[in-house]
Amino acid sequence: MTAIPQERRVVTAIPGPKSVELQARRLETVAAGVGSTLPVFTARAGGGIIEDVDGNRLIDLGSGIAVTSVGASAEAVVRRASAQLADFTHTCFMVTPYEGYVEVCEQLAELTPGDHPKKSALFNSGAEAVENAVKIARIHTKRTAVVVFDHGYHGRTNLTMALTAKNMPYKQGFGPFAPEVYRVPVAYGYRWPTGAENAGAEASAQAIDQINKQIGAENVAAIIIEPVLGEGGFIEPAKGFLPAIAQFAKDNGIVFVADEIQSGFCRTGQWFACEDEGIVPDLITTAKGIAGGLPLSAVTGRAEIMDSAHSGGLGGTYGGNPVACAGALGAIETMRELDLNGKAKRIEEVMKGRLGEMQSKLDNGDIIGDIRGRGAMIAIELVKSGTKDPNPEAAAKLAKACHAEGVLVLTCGTYGNVLRFLPPLVIGEDLLNEALDVIEQAFGRI
Ligand SMILES: *Cc1c(COP(=O)(O)O)cnc(C)c1O
Repeated sequence: MTAIPQERRVVTAIPGPKSVELQARRLETVAAGVGSTLPVFTARAGGGIIEDVDGNRLIDLGSGIAVTSVGASAEAVVRRASAQLADFTHTCFMVTPYEGYVEVCEQLAELTPGDHPKKSALFNSGAEAVENAVKIARIHTKRTAVVVFDHGYHGRTNLTMALTAKNMPYKQGFGPFAPEVYRVPVAYGYRWPTGAENAGAEASAQAIDQINKQIGAENVAAIIIEPVLGEGGFIEPAKGFLPAIAQFAKDNGIVFVADEIQSGFCRTGQWFACEDEGIVPDLITTAKGIAGGLPLSAVTGRAEIMDSAHSGGLGGTYGGNPVACAGALGAIETMRELDLNGKAKRIEEVMKGRLGEMQSKLDNGDIIGDIRGRGAMIAIELVKSGTKDPNPEAAAKLAKACHAEGVLVLTCGTYGNVLRFLPPLVIGEDLLNEALDVIEQAFGRI
């Protein structure tokens, strides 16, 4: 395997002719419901670069949606997963177990917040982890209600669609949804009516009041929240919000679940984003960044809660696949060795500095309403000049202009007006600055 040169290179239109040809084939045979941000077909990827089939090299500010934090071909992931492939691909942990699964659970116990006894169960996707967290919370509490938040995202299966806030594209036409799911306000500082400084206290009071009045705390099995809301727009709940909700859960015997599927594994400059306010969740769901691109997810939490389910009640044919477990051990090894928490913090410094400059110096810089996020999970919320009205058109145009110049960026947000940046944590600083140059130039083109 040769390392991919870490430089941007645009040699054709984007997408180029070979990608266009593949896209035509794809449209004939891949279901229309499966979309792509940028129909550029990948030849190889690694570090901060995605190389396409036409020989273009794109700077990757997406990491396959926060997955390839260690890069898309990290040495330790490739080495360990390849060795595992040669030994055996599958036995099913529920039939004959293997050490890799146990080792991943040991790592999860060590890395997740809190020093209480912990156990884990492994699955394949984020949605599957969230579903299982709900199963575990329900059997443990013998209650049924699940509380989630405005702007929350938890997946695309039936239960996790119900947990997800945004209708289009995730839910439209796909109902009916699972019952006993209740949504309450979150402290979205930028859009809180009485100002960001009041959002933490007021939103938590409203959320708790709604739970008490509309559901009854004694009926609630779980409260599930993303410590930094991902698809909803990289919303960091205002200070004080998460501790108030976690305390309420504790006082009422409710299982507090941190969905760290997007924010976990060094993404925000900590192993887990909930560490920022000292939150110790009862259960934590992880996926995306965990295994360097191989499909793996987990529910980790207090041993007495995790052990509530009877033997055979949790699992799945592929859950904790041995190759994916080997990949996870390689990814975690890489995170420790390269101090990817430190790298994420440095990415935040560089990105927030440059984005702040753009906001103040560019002619149309005032359409950057908010710059937010932590570590390598950074976003700008775009608004119409002089207002807080969402500007999804600007987000779409900026993304398009960046793509044309070979910088892969993603959008998100309930209003579709957030440009989000999720670079691999191993991206070189020169490459990151070059991507920021392209983003800056894109403002001149919209
Ligand atoms: C992506 C995501 C999920 C769903 O994960 P899948 O692997 O796509 O099923 C759930 N929760 C959060 C916070 C996510 O970002």
